Amino acid sequence: MIPDEKIAEIRERANLVEIVGEYVSLKRAGTNFKGVCPFHADSDPSFNVNPSRQFFHCFGCSASGDIFSFVQRIEGIEFMEAARLLAGKYGIVLPERPMTSEAKTRQDREREEKARRLHVLETATVFFEESLWAPAGKVAREVLRQRGVSDVTAKAFRLGYAPDAWQGLLDHFHRHRISAREAEAVGLALPRKTGDGYYDRFRNRLVFTITDSQGHPIAFSARALPGEDTGAKYINSPETHEYSKGKVLFGLHQARVALSKQRHAILVEGNFDVVAMHEAGFQNVMAPLGTAFTEEQATVLRRRVDRVTVMFDGDRAGMAAAVRSFPILAKCGLAAYMSPLPSGQDPDSLLREKGAKVMEGILQRSSGLLDEIIRMTAAASDGSSQDISRRVTKLRPLINSVRDAMERDLYRQKVAAAFSVEPGIVFRYLRDERVSETPAARPSAMPVPGDSDERELIGLLLDLPELCDEAVKIGAVSQIRTPRLREMAEQLVYNSHHHSSGASALMAGAQTDVVADWLAKRGLETLYENAESGKEALYEIREMMEKRNLETQIVEIKKQIQLAHASGDDMMVLSLQRRRTEIEREMHGVGIAFDNSTVRH
Ligand SMILES: [Zn+2]
Repeated sequence: MIPDEKIAEIRERANLVEIVGEYVSLKRAGTNFKGVCPFHADSDPSFNVNPSRQFFHCFGCSASGDIFSFVQRIEGIEFMEAARLLAGKYGIVLPERPMTSEAKTRQDREREEKARRLHVLETATVFFEESLWAPAGKVAREVLRQRGVSDVTAKAFRLGYAPDAWQGLLDHFHRHRISAREAEAVGLALPRKTGDGYYDRFRNRLVFTITDSQGHPIAFSARALPGEDTGAKYINSPETHEYSKGKVLFGLHQARVALSKQRHAILVEGNFDVVAMHEAGFQNVMAPLGTAFTEEQATVLRRRVDRVTVMFDGDRAGMAAAVRSFPILAKCGLAAYMSPLPSGQDPDSLLREKGAKVMEGILQRSSGLLDEIIRMTAAASDGSSQDISRRVTKLRPLINSVRDAMERDLYRQKVAAAFSVEPGIVFRYLRDERVSETPAARPSAMPVPGDSDERELIGLLLDLPELCDEAVKIGAVSQIRTPRLREMAEQLVYNSHHHSSGASALMAGAQTDVVADWLAKRGLETLYENAESGKEALYEIREMMEKRNLETQIVEIKKQIQLAHASGDDMMVLSLQRRRTEIEREMHGVGIAFDNSTVRH
């Protein structure tokens, strides 16, 4: 846990305009800054940053929030990570959690060890890179040249070459005071089968650097060079402390800005496909690194995108991989599309033979992944009842993995049409096996809770924090009946005492939360500028709220009186009527108090 005051300090010191400016070019527009939204395909600048309140809002996609949510979203990380990243950037030292000195020592040691391993991996990356551009790397450079990979792209992906030697890397490590044992720990060296000593895992191979999402090298994927018929086409690092293969996507780091901008990822099979796609200008592309696409990889993507297009090789294996990826994508709530490649092609070969324009066309013609699977399954059927039944049954788990009930029905209908069978049959045999979940309603379609007075009060306190104390004193805040709005008002009061610009924190999560969304929109404008007229409005709002609350009480009492009548409880009726008179008198008093306390002409 990071203590609140540290979070507040980060908020104080960090500058949202500066941070956003690292990703988006911003121009001043009145009191706000405007730019093209990094979170949706935005043509005119709909992305607003309000510097004084330190929050952002996009009129195009409703993305909004504070500096933490911006960093979280664009980097695809959790709150804590975002806080640490910002703290690091602004030189704020975060305190360690109190722990026993033993645990502390252990944590320090683990941290040091991790830093050391990352250093070893980084040193290796630099070595592979230098080897690629050195004379001995000619054979690997030639492969890149044939594939049309430019030097710029090769450098952006930190491609390298592992020299044709048993101890090339180990000798380099030795010069950098890195032991063979350390090399082994990160998967770069293997113990000799006979005698002592170690040897390089990767030899005479083109090296793809695998990084974590922040760009630190954590593993390598090394490809055999032409004429080398020893061993597998690809050799990957083994699983280590830093690297577990089902969790990492090759190219994720290079794709991150494009992903957050387009909210769309293209999944290809091979490392070269990723590099070739980038080279051709498609930057939202990554590959699952020699494994089937996993749920962990889908989760990594879910934080960054809404839509995934699979573009697997145009062969049987590619189709099978696409089919396997569907339920994983669907379960994560990712919209799944497919761009089928001509048979025998992969993205890399297609780009080399046909160019980026044809690729663009293929991407534009992408269709729903399951629609495509249904179409292809039906096309492969021999039309016999047995075969149809077998194939339709195979589609069942895919359809059932879809979250949205209506979508599931639409797929069933498509199955019926594709196999030319009576829809009733398909519906009967492919019925839901799971409790249907209603899709989350779009926040914009939901009314903002609370009534207009309550919201007006919050807007007022946002514009004029100096009125917060007054609002508490005259009981305006305590008149708020809607819990979320009450909480929000209390937070604003708290902020006003702590000189915190934390209002933006309240707007975080605007995409999923109607109240935060409302506040984010409201926060873009300042409706009350003058404390005097603001105070007048405050009293007016307070009165309206008080009146309304008393009215609600009267309605309630009337109901109770009726109930008491019906049950013949005369004593109760009397006491309720007395209470009602009191409230009515109070209501009258509200008007009088209001008239006396404000200057109205
Ligand atoms: Zn947007």
